[in-house]
Amino acid sequence: RRELTRAWITAEPRMKDGERVHIELNIGRATPQELAQADSLDGVGLYRTEFLYMGRDTLPSEEEQTVAYSRVLQAFQGKPVTIRTLDVGGDKKLDCLELPAEENPFLGVRALRLCFEYPDLFMTQLRAMLRASIHGELWLMFPMVGGLSDLRRAKEFLQKAKEELDRSHIPYADNIKVGIMVEIPSIALMADKAARAADFASIGTNDLMQYTMAADRMNPKVGQYCRMYDPALFRLIRLAADAFRAEGKPVGVCGEMGGDPLASVVLLGLGIRRLSMGLSNAAQIKKNICAMDARRAAELAQSVCEMDTAEEAQVYLKRQLADFL
Ligand code: PEP
Ligand code: MG
Repeated sequence: RRELTRAWITAEPRMKDGERVHIELNIGRATPQELAQADSLDGVGLYRTEFLYMGRDTLPSEEEQTVAYSRVLQAFQGKPVTIRTLDVGGDKKLDCLELPAEENPFLGVRALRLCFEYPDLFMTQLRAMLRASIHGELWLMFPMVGGLSDLRRAKEFLQKAKEELDRSHIPYADNIKVGIMVEIPSIALMADKAARAADFASIGTNDLMQYTMAADRMNPKVGQYCRMYDPALFRLIRLAADAFRAEGKPVGVCGEMGGDPLASVVLLGLGIRRLSMGLSNAAQIKKNICAMDARRAAELAQSVCEMDTAEEAQVYLKRQLADFL
């Protein structure tokens, strides 16, 4: 059965009523196996660049990063490659950058906040991304955006990086999209405004879940509070999805929920048409999409958003979607 499912990797993900869904890849090291699937998938929905910085004593240079990003953009020629700026702090530590200890690292100086504290590091990465952009379709994404002020500040850095390249006569593409991760509840609640200020959004359900439930995603003791099927989480996702769709801007999911057989159907039902996931989940999710229609997904999503608890939602989805597991 697993062999049969694996063959679905090359299928076009279209719901029974014809609605096309984009299936994209989450990558870190960009392995040969991942890049080899560029033809079968719709792009890269999340390139976690922190892997370039991990397990080494020095920060990666602008040149080195430019080469790494260009390689992925080239492999996915013509398809969107969403490269996320550095997301360290929280659970992710670096040898090449000593970070002060914090009482609550997940609520501390992480991701974009850390980049603001280390402007040289941030500018180097932004210049590298811009330089790589001539090799494909770059969607540049900021993690841990908590409000419009974060996005504005990040865009100022990007503008400065462009001006530096201009002064050195180094080319970059002029059609880069600049988007945000929706993974802090505050930005989901401001999604109408965010949707005007950003070119696209990708919902980071791993962090959105932990920040919504106030339950550390790395702490097994509070695992029972990290509830993927919680109606509260689906309602927040709905806010973001509705706002970006109303502006006609792409909105996807790149957290684990996108690759989950039950949650992914609810996401489709909330109007999301872009799911990004690890390679190991892509075939199964494509197969499920081809067995679903948009109306049924919408009905399931509506029911789940009206349920009382995550347990209730999970039991319901398991019963409704037994074939999808
Ligand atoms: C997320 O938070 O859902 C996400 C995709 O980012 P990461 O898991 O790298 O924090
Ligand atoms: Mg995250």
